[in-house]
Amino acid sequence: MRFVGKRAVVTGGASGIGRATAERLAQDGAEVWIGDIDDAGGEAVAAAVGGRYHRCDVSDPVQIAALVGAADAAGGLDLLVNNAGAGGSRERIDAISADEWDRTHALLLRSVVMGIRHAAPLMAKRGGGAIVNTSSVSAFQSGAAPIAYSVAKAAVIHLTRLAAAELSQHNIRVNAVAPGFITTNIFTASLGMTGAARDQANAMIAGAAAQAQPVRRAGRPEDIAAAIAYLLSDEAGFVTGTHLLVDGGMNIGPRHSWDPDVPSFFDAIGKAAGQ
Ligand code: NAD
Repeated sequence: MRFVGKRAVVTGGASGIGRATAERLAQDGAEVWIGDIDDAGGEAVAAAVGGRYHRCDVSDPVQIAALVGAADAAGGLDLLVNNAGAGGSRERIDAISADEWDRTHALLLRSVVMGIRHAAPLMAKRGGGAIVNTSSVSAFQSGAAPIAYSVAKAAVIHLTRLAAAELSQHNIRVNAVAPGFITTNIFTASLGMTGAARDQANAMIAGAAAQAQPVRRAGRPEDIAAAIAYLLSDEAGFVTGTHLLVDGGMNIGPRHSWDPDVPSFFDAIGKAAGQ
């Protein structure tokens, strides 16, 4: 019950990582406010965790200010998880338009900037707080997600460091979590899939996720929620301006270094040479 007496805002709390985080924080005693654009999902999670749902499109800074302001007005804001997101534009660098780039970054980067911007003064007046931003393993490598998404997630890492520096004087810690391949609806949602097609695709995704990294099981939303809860908690009181990779080892290195079924370049040369 490490969050008893704390009030938390979780964006994107209607589904996936945000939902698991809302559940985890509530289990540990927090009053959780969920901001999302999925009203039915957000209301359901809020009811399940004994929290509140407040509609908020994080692409709109006015709605972010209203969300954190409402939580603060209920008795003070202590914790913020800037987590809402979607895949954004899938265009490559030689085809993407300025509008698509801006739309993706409004959703994935400016939203985090504005979340911190509007929460920080509220936390400062209470004597401090803690913020976690959801980045991604795609911040560190190619091929994990489209370019506009990956660049936004990389910027979230640096934003986290600079915000942590600027807000340390107010006793506000800012950290990021960088998930690997986690089985949520984000992939099918990005493709506009619903119903049976979505369920079928999600089952395929779960199978692929179990084989995608050194840890031989699919990444779960609860894996990320546990990391977020740690970073928000007093146990992480000496941790700020950093990120925690929770990716089952995906970022360790190339597949041949951990998968005995995939030969390395040297294995291939040796085999060709008859050794
Ligand atoms: P999800 O689709 O299950 O949940 C995303 C939630 O964000 C949904 O409830 C959705 O309604 C909400 N949302 C989308 N656009 C919004 C907007 N404009 N305003 C408010 N809410 C909005 O996906 P998830 O995997 O749980 O994603 C959560 C975060 O984790 C995202 O930032 C995502 O980029 C990040 N992430 C996910 C993975 C993964 O493998 N699933 C990996 C790395 C990072």
